[in-house]
Amino acid sequence: MKKKLTKKKRIGIIGAGPSGLAQIRAFEALQNQGEDIPEIVCFEKQSNWGGMWNYSWRTGVGKYGEPTHGSMYKYLWSNGPKECLEFSDYSFDEHFKKPISSYPPRPVLFDYIQGRIKKSKARDYIRFDTTARWVSFDEKAKKFTVILDDLKIDKTYSEEFDYLVVASGHFSTPNMPYFKGIENFPGAVIHAHDFKGADQFKDQNLLLIGSSYSAEDIGVQCYKHGANSVTLSYRSNPIGVEWPEGIKELPLVTHFEDDKAFFKNGTTERFDAVIMCTGYQHKFPFLPDELRLKTKNNLYPDHLYKGIFFNKLPQLIYLGMQDQYYTFNMFDTQAWVARDYMIGRLQIPEEAERKLDIDKWLEANDKLETGFDDVDFQSEYIKDLLSISDYPHFNVDEVGEMFKSWLKDKEEDILTYRDKTYQSVVTGTMAAEHHTEWMDELDDSKERYLYEPEEEDILSETL
Ligand code: FAD
Ligand code: NAP
Ligand code: MG
Repeated sequence: MKKKLTKKKRIGIIGAGPSGLAQIRAFEALQNQGEDIPEIVCFEKQSNWGGMWNYSWRTGVGKYGEPTHGSMYKYLWSNGPKECLEFSDYSFDEHFKKPISSYPPRPVLFDYIQGRIKKSKARDYIRFDTTARWVSFDEKAKKFTVILDDLKIDKTYSEEFDYLVVASGHFSTPNMPYFKGIENFPGAVIHAHDFKGADQFKDQNLLLIGSSYSAEDIGVQCYKHGANSVTLSYRSNPIGVEWPEGIKELPLVTHFEDDKAFFKNGTTERFDAVIMCTGYQHKFPFLPDELRLKTKNNLYPDHLYKGIFFNKLPQLIYLGMQDQYYTFNMFDTQAWVARDYMIGRLQIPEEAERKLDIDKWLEANDKLETGFDDVDFQSEYIKDLLSISDYPHFNVDEVGEMFKSWLKDKEEDILTYRDKTYQSVVTGTMAAEHHTEWMDELDDSKERYLYEPEEEDILSETL
């Protein structure tokens, strides 16, 4: 008599950005070791993978009327050393076959992300142009039902899963605060999410509200590409670096009158455009309230055991939901741990014990004061994940030190920190110097980036 095969567990993944792709890669790594893997289906509402790194010129809605996911823009360069995010199972050397600089532009990092999975069957697991519309969980059957929309053929259908991995990102839905009188501002008022590049702001006087990465980077980019002036307005703390002439920081705007902004310190100024660099909301319109992660942007969102398992229901897994110093390598470590739980290799304690562990991390998170503290905290978190998985280990402490030097580099000179070079902890390779200083480099294409100037070119430039 034939033995009845046990039905394979089904795993649903929502999103094919770096986090969702890390989950697929984690299963492929297991398969490469000759192990049987569960059935995986990944849903991606865009037509291609890469999440944020898959640049879209669209604002508002995409081709099929879905909210545009991408928040990246033209001329976006990595804002941290690439050595801090390197996959430990796929190095930059393996991909580019030569040393490259520490701060590549977006198309180069997009190419790197794709390199690791293009060689595999990852694409076969992904249903593109498919939006996860709604999720429910059947307590009895212990299964998720996911309602999906195939956008291309405009068809709704549903599928069941034993585990659900939410990898839909959290830097896409703008947090858009109101300031009195802004409705009468005559110029453009946009959120950083809809900022697509500095060109249209040439010669303008810009007001950027916010004092974090978006404010800093969009401000510097607009300055680099020819804005007349950039004013950053902070709510809690200024970024506080020494700004070049043309960029300055003021306290928070109190209100607007026509094109005039009034600031808390009594200053008033006229502006041509306002860009809200006021962060993003964790938004999961496809999840019911009881399964939804509710958090602000921080290094340890509450309710997630090991930063990934939804404590009330660990079959529900969230990837990449924390604020990020570490990115690609953190998503990998999370995905490897999640995989081991889903295949039964990793046992996790009961809910109450999990909560104690979460509380321990939350308490430590509460005590963080400086950027250095933040880095140490996230390094400890990664080490904790590495200790329970077989993701290829990398020297986390050394990466932590690189992050700290990066913070110092930025403080020293916000316009030149991207010219610095770092050493890979994966291969030991020292980054190359880019052929052009970042402030003079207006072309962010991969071709230009990888181009090697001939000796004669260099000579003619120096003559
Ligand atoms: P995302 O990249 O956001 O991907 C999520 C995916 O889920 C998307 O493809 C989306 O289409 C899909 N999705 C969402 N909802 C649904 C749904 N309902 N159904 C189906 N699919 C869905 N990190 C760095 O390391 N270096 C940088 O220089 C850097 N720059 C950044 C610049 C900006 C402006 C922003 C916003 C972020 C930047 N980041 C940077 C951080 C970035 O968030 C991570 O690098 C990474 O993209 C996060 O990966 P993710 O897969 O978690 O999310
Ligand atoms: P963020 O880090 O969450 O910061 C949000 C900012 O908005 C904070 O300064 C916050 O001020 C401010 N804010 C929120 N509500 C406000 C209000 N009502 N009034 C005034 N200010 C308000 O978000 P982000 O800067 O958009 O960064 C998101 C992610 O994008 C990060 O991971 C970053 O690395 C990435 N990024 C990368 C690049 C790049 O160069 N590669 C460029 C841009 C962004 P408080 O301090 O007062 O809370
Ligand atoms: Mg944008």
